[in-house]
Amino acid sequence: MKRMLVGFALSLFSALLFFTFPADTEALSKADVSFSSDAMDRGGVILVTVKADEQKAPRIIWLQKDVPLVYSASDESWSGFISADLHQETGLHDCMIRELSSGFQERYPIRIRLKDYGVRRLKLPKAKVELDAKSLKRIKNEAAVIHSLWPAGDISPKWKGQFLMPVDGDIVGTFGRKSIINHLHKSPHTGVDLAGKKGDPVVAINSGRVLLVADHFFSGKSVYVNHGGGIISMYFHLDKILVSKGDDIQKGEVVGLLGATGRVTGPHLHWGVRINGNRINPLTLIELSGALKE
Ligand SMILES: [Zn+2]
Repeated sequence: MKRMLVGFALSLFSALLFFTFPADTEALSKADVSFSSDAMDRGGVILVTVKADEQKAPRIIWLQKDVPLVYSASDESWSGFISADLHQETGLHDCMIRELSSGFQERYPIRIRLKDYGVRRLKLPKAKVELDAKSLKRIKNEAAVIHSLWPAGDISPKWKGQFLMPVDGDIVGTFGRKSIINHLHKSPHTGVDLAGKKGDPVVAINSGRVLLVADHFFSGKSVYVNHGGGIISMYFHLDKILVSKGDDIQKGEVVGLLGATGRVTGPHLHWGVRINGNRINPLTLIELSGALKE
């Protein structure tokens, strides 16, 4: 009996060895790929993780674009985020995963759902809503500058591990709501509004490089941070900007002070994130990145 037990323990041990330490030459299989979900709302994010060696970087292709991936040595895996813009076409879209050396190629259907984020009604001074020709020209120029930023995110990732909240105030404006300002329909709310007092420090949600500092009509004093890997974060209505374009900044570093500049009803931080140019709910990025090790 004792010998049997020892034999059983030994075979269990070798079985465990086999499962915990797969040979380096082993090909990637469907089981090595995991998604945090197989469906997301418009404005949503899904974390994709592929168990593979550092030498075996997989390719993830989503909505005709390569998804930049980050390698975690402690998890021996590659991770990246796929996302759906607030106006992305709904329905099934394939996420393609390939790994060249093992000839691995699989399609994973992901459903993008329509979501009703609700409506917000705001009252603003007439001059801030019904705009004169000079303001419209200014807004057009600023929109062109902002639009040209999104491809800049396409550099190797500078972010690591979990993303942080930029301030710890309550959420006073949720993501995605349609705006009706003085009875006029305006563009949806593409970020999250966080409560705070004028002068509260606003921190970078992860490491990166300052892509733009500006003083714009709608967003006031604004900082855009390029985290690489397709991820760009934005901090609007600041009272004061404390970084310059091109600065390399660390996760948690103060980028500015909370304020009420631009078109606002009072002091708060408007915080937005784009992934591969897609307007997404930044709170989802915080939640999903909690699973990542640095
Ligand atoms: Zn806002």
